[in-house]
Amino acid sequence: SSTLVWLRNDLRIADNPALAAALKNEEPIHAVYVLETDRALRPLGGAAKVWLHESLKALNDALAERGVRLSYREGQSKTVIPEMIREMKAERVYWNRRYDPAGRAHDASLKKGLKADGIAVESFNAALLVEPWDIATKQGTPYGVFTPFWKALRDKLIADPIGRAERHSEIKPPALDFGKPPFWANGILERWAVGEEAAKRVLSGFLDDLLADYPNDRDLPRKRATSEMSPHLRFGEIGPRQIWFAVRHLIASNPSMANAGDKFLSELAWREFSYHLLYHRGDIARHSMQERFDEIEWRSDAKALHAWQKGQTGIPIVDAGMRQLWRTGWMHNRVRMLTASLLTKNLLTDWRKGEQWFWDTLVDADPANNPASWQWVAGSGADAAPYFRIFNPITQGEKFDSRGDYVREWVPELRNLPDKWVHKPWMADVETLDKAELKLGITYPIPIVDLSTSRERALETLKR
Ligand code: FAD
Repeated sequence: SSTLVWLRNDLRIADNPALAAALKNEEPIHAVYVLETDRALRPLGGAAKVWLHESLKALNDALAERGVRLSYREGQSKTVIPEMIREMKAERVYWNRRYDPAGRAHDASLKKGLKADGIAVESFNAALLVEPWDIATKQGTPYGVFTPFWKALRDKLIADPIGRAERHSEIKPPALDFGKPPFWANGILERWAVGEEAAKRVLSGFLDDLLADYPNDRDLPRKRATSEMSPHLRFGEIGPRQIWFAVRHLIASNPSMANAGDKFLSELAWREFSYHLLYHRGDIARHSMQERFDEIEWRSDAKALHAWQKGQTGIPIVDAGMRQLWRTGWMHNRVRMLTASLLTKNLLTDWRKGEQWFWDTLVDADPANNPASWQWVAGSGADAAPYFRIFNPITQGEKFDSRGDYVREWVPELRNLPDKWVHKPWMADVETLDKAELKLGITYPIPIVDLSTSRERALETLKR
């Protein structure tokens, strides 16, 4: 007999409880990744698929070294998994949990069916610091607000520290061939090193070189100041427990890092909070957490949406962010907020349209973080930014990209503009524009929306 490990968003060897449990059985292990085509499950976006492809290649090599064979299948997992069980003559199936409502329902029904056939099925937690059902308010209800959630999470983990992740090494060589990635994937592949080993390197580099300045610099989009761990976390190439442990360990040996370490872990806790919401609030990619938001008459302006998607809105920091996303599959957090605010507030576009675009273009497109963050910006979320908070992309740009370096990097048309105008080229005089060889409306768009009248329109609509 053998054990089948169904890998999903846990593409790593270290701290992988399903894999660890399989190893304990001391019988052959077979691992499978299924690109699921079940209608009820949200299909992966394009950029995420590129990442997945690379990540599976890296994992395949790592597993092969340990004598575990990884298979790749496409189809409905409710058919593929039983097929694999028959082929492998497996008596056990292990996987790590997922938290989206459709995925959970799917796994529960598969588990029931397999158990009825006499297969032992076990599921584990690889993705979260604490399971969503293991953390609750004093009243026993789920959290709806981030800060008390973070406090409770922190207290819980300090009272009951996470041990160093177990190491596993002993686990035959397969050949995975998914063909070539699409031509547009080059920007992504050049930008990122994918896989568990890369994830570990990124974490230790961040802790050594960047963590100390994280609280001060994390909002500056041009600076390499954040961890850039998000796609690694998204695919489980590294788990949050490993990060938590590494940071705590660092603080213990170097107490001067306590504040910075805590700030960083509190950001990681936003991810936990998003999963808490995903688990307790159901389909947050489809429904506004505050129902009244689903009564808003959103504008439907295909041209404006397209300009936003392609980084052609005429608002420099927004265009810079959208182009960074398109080219690299990632965007800085501050700029994600600004681009999302422009779309949902100034352009009064349904947040779901933005969420879907990000889902398709982000390498870290995450079933919890993406919808939860979009709803946070739109103001429809649980822990909502009040709807009347509308970011001003000019003042935000001047504050967080004061010399315009980020804009110049991604919007080279504006390269020659003096700092003073780089976030608002339409306000510069003709002479300045001429000198900068900028022809507004020709080489770079005039803003597609007037920031102040659209702000008023948004306030009025949302108030109603
Ligand atoms: P760091 O600052 O180094 O943070 C470390 C980790 O903590 C991140 O990798 C992430 O897992 C978590 N984290 C940090 N900030 C947040 C946050 N605000 N919310 C939730 N988790 C956070 N993040 C995703 O992982 N996937 C998404 O699809 C996603 N979509 C977003 C959409 C919008 C509109 C906005 C405003 C934010 C979105 N975020 C998303 C959150 C955040 O922008 C990214 O997690 C962050 O920019 C990733 O960069 P980093 O790894 O360098 O972050």
